[in-house]
Amino acid sequence: MRDLSEKIAAIAPSATIEISNAAKRMAQEGVDVISLSIGEPDFDTPAHIKDACIDALRRGETHYAPSAGIPALASAIAEKIAGENGFAVQPDEVIVTCGAKDAIYEAMEAVLNPTDEVLILDPAWVSYEPCAQLAGAVARHHPLSPETFQVDDTLLEAVSSRTKMVVVNSPSNPSGAVLDAASLRLIADICRDHDLYVLSDEIYEKLVYGKEHISLASLPEMAERTITINGFSKAYAMTGWRIGYAVAPRPIIRQMEKVQQHTISHPTTFAMFGALAALRGGQDCVEAMRREFERRRDYLIPALKGLGYTTAPADGAFYAYVRVDGDDMAIARSWLRDAHLAVTPGTAFGTPGWLRVSYATSMENLEEAVGRIARV
Ligand code: PMP
Ligand code: GLU
Repeated sequence: MRDLSEKIAAIAPSATIEISNAAKRMAQEGVDVISLSIGEPDFDTPAHIKDACIDALRRGETHYAPSAGIPALASAIAEKIAGENGFAVQPDEVIVTCGAKDAIYEAMEAVLNPTDEVLILDPAWVSYEPCAQLAGAVARHHPLSPETFQVDDTLLEAVSSRTKMVVVNSPSNPSGAVLDAASLRLIADICRDHDLYVLSDEIYEKLVYGKEHISLASLPEMAERTITINGFSKAYAMTGWRIGYAVAPRPIIRQMEKVQQHTISHPTTFAMFGALAALRGGQDCVEAMRREFERRRDYLIPALKGLGYTTAPADGAFYAYVRVDGDDMAIARSWLRDAHLAVTPGTAFGTPGWLRVSYATSMENLEEAVGRIARV
């Protein structure tokens, strides 16, 4: 066999997906495994969203769509951004993608050149660095304070003459932290002063508990340098639909659209009609799911603290980030082997010594999981 791509060989597999695959395999083999490894709402997609997709299928919305997505959805997204996120965009500053992940990949391809550096704030979700690598760029990591998970002015020291983009993810996967206004102002000041782009991944914006989500692009002069990433997976329990989007200045969207045209063409046409119904319909379903995640968080965090663990703030998303003594990879392996409990080691997110425990699962599973952690 001839040699394969060195670029791809250098990229790590997705730890979140690999561990959840391993848990699924164990479950298929009849093991009573509890998976707290993947960040995926356990709720069904709300019925009115499914109905809109089925109607679209029946109407014959089964053909190619415009490559940036169906115009009605781009308009609905532009209205949502203006109404909820505090900055103005036109529909042609929106691209609908195959999940937020695809939007992140396309944004990096659209903006970065080889040797450009992307600054990632650790702990960070597993796919930012590989997307930067796929674009030929270089990822640099800057640790957030492990006490507060906020940004301080040491971020400035991490900026080099090669830095072109900063990746910001609030609410954060994996820490559950929500960046406060002071952190966002600091990031904005640095990006303006050093002419940097920001990729602001706001996919967990709806899942905040007693905190306010602020969009980076709403800060003065930030919309012109921010690519806002969002999607339907987390807020509407639509992970399998693969619909996400990016909002950015027109030249960036045009570049992303070229990537899209030559790779996926556009996301699935009838799935986009479901996403349209999600935005146009009532939002009570989102709030009901948020409240249920909050209830689980309010159980899990004190339960883990009761077992002696230190946890990150858990103000958003659906992850408890738990400090452990010793090798997080070995501990995660032993929890899986001895307690049939799948969690993701912090090493995968650039912070060894932590475990990510997803509470996007039933209360019964969480109670059973806490019992198993106590025993293991
Ligand atoms: N960003 C973050 C921080 C995530 O946790 C996820 C979850 N997979 C994504 C992006 C991608 O979401 P999607 O399912 O829309 O691709
Ligand atoms: N974002 C989720 C997680 O972190 C889903 C898996 C993935 O796409 O990484 O578990």
